[in-house]
Amino acid sequence: MKEYDVVVIGAGPAGYVCAIRCAQLGMKVACIDEWVNSKGKSTLGGTCLNVGCIPSKALLDSSHHVHFLHEQAKEHGIKIGNLEIDVPTMQKRKDKVVQVLTGGVASLLKKNKVDVHIGTASFSSHNVVSVKNNSMGTSEEIRGEHIVIASGSIPIDIPIANVDQKTILDSTGALSLQNAPKRLGIIGAGVIGLEMGSVWKRLGSEVIILEAIAEFLPIADSTITKEAKKILTKQGLDIRLSSLVKDVSVSNDKVLVKYESGGEEKSLEVDKLIVAVGRKANTTSLNLELVNVETDEKGYVKTDEHWQTSVKNIYAIGDVIGGPMLAHKGSEEGIAVAELLDGQHAVMNHDNVPWVIYTWPEIAWAGKTEQECKESNIKYKVGTFPYMALGRARAMGDTEGMFKIISDEANDQILGVHILGAIASELISEAVVALESELSSEDLARTIHAHPSLAEGLHEAALAVDERAIHI
Ligand code: FAD
Ligand code: AMP
Repeated sequence: MKEYDVVVIGAGPAGYVCAIRCAQLGMKVACIDEWVNSKGKSTLGGTCLNVGCIPSKALLDSSHHVHFLHEQAKEHGIKIGNLEIDVPTMQKRKDKVVQVLTGGVASLLKKNKVDVHIGTASFSSHNVVSVKNNSMGTSEEIRGEHIVIASGSIPIDIPIANVDQKTILDSTGALSLQNAPKRLGIIGAGVIGLEMGSVWKRLGSEVIILEAIAEFLPIADSTITKEAKKILTKQGLDIRLSSLVKDVSVSNDKVLVKYESGGEEKSLEVDKLIVAVGRKANTTSLNLELVNVETDEKGYVKTDEHWQTSVKNIYAIGDVIGGPMLAHKGSEEGIAVAELLDGQHAVMNHDNVPWVIYTWPEIAWAGKTEQECKESNIKYKVGTFPYMALGRARAMGDTEGMFKIISDEANDQILGVHILGAIASELISEAVVALESELSSEDLARTIHAHPSLAEGLHEAALAVDERAIHI
């Protein structure tokens, strides 16, 4: 039996990063993964690279170009005759992006001398894992002094809607459509629902999003979400809040969706339906019960603050332990666990994990929302600044959105930063550095920002905390 210092289960952003960091620190490492793509080929990178972050951003970028050509090009003096959209070519490009990046993960693991075992892992004992590969008809057992579970997450399915990836799709099916459905229904106005809705709306679908709860994006700051909802609605996304889907049926290639809204039973007929109601821990084949690794009531693997499970030598990281289900959160946990296993003091501040929703304008934030400050009885100050007042935003023709900085009334320490606007995904990193460094809004206000740049919006919002913004 092969023996390792560390066996990592899962080669998503949590698992492969953990494996590489362990190898960098001189440990003998194995990484097991079972992922098989639509062509039946094993690929690494997990959900994020295969059917998550990367393919969704590839399609969001392609469809954003379409949006630009339709809506903004004329203003820039660019005239286009007949604009033709070739979705299969767009999909091929997306597949190529995925192929290059998943291949990159394989090369990185190889370069770092991590042994990759392809197949499904399950515990045989607290330090032995069996790896079965049904397509190759192989089975082996490997031993790890430490085992790290990084098995990720899978879409939540609801019994009323049977995902067949033809008419009723989950996010994976939604990323593979070969043409824009005439009428597309989406259950769930969360991050994935909004991103998929944006892609297919820009490519020509009529998009209706049904969301059970009354509030739009309750995890984000309410000033930002109010504005975002207005803008997305103006773009043509029909977002119906307080609309609980009760029944879904398919006949003659159409989907009939029955939902309850305002005490009334309503129905909607669509050509395709995307179920985007969240994700859950992926632990089914791990045989956790055998080794007494505990899970919580929602099925997430329970860990302490050092990612140790109820079994001393077994750790868990990434989506499988819950919290923000984001790739960068899992990767940082992977690095922290590797360093802990090396005997280092490793900590991670979960309070400042940045969130991004890649609609256009993008929505990005880090730290506390204004609602959270109110709930915790924190006295705070707020500074806001609109994109409209930025020279660079005007030059780009992207003037929708705003910056918002919340700081502590007592000592001006920045508590939260919220951005709605063009490339907010990039701008939020400055905010994360500020939060991690416990900077005050005054520190940001006294930091020189290049002109003209969108980052000047953060500078101006910091000035606005003390009511001294210049350009408004
Ligand atoms: P995963 O990426 O799910 O990887 C787990 C791996 O473990 C998989 O490869 C799986 O095959 C393997 N595995 C599981 N069980 C076993 C087993 N028993 N044996 C062997 N192998 C096993 N996050 C962002 O930060 N930014 C985004 O823009 C973003 N966009 C997204 C868009 C979509 C459509 C989706 C679905 C998700 C998106 N996410 C995004 C979330 C992100 O993909 C996840 O947070 C991230 O992939 C979690 O990483 P992970 O390593 O914990 O798990
Ligand atoms: P997220 O967890 O961010 O992906 O968001 C999923 C969204 O789906 C949540 O906002 C849920 O309220 C919503 N949702 C879950 N079930 C239903 C349902 N049956 N009908 C409408 N919306 C739902």
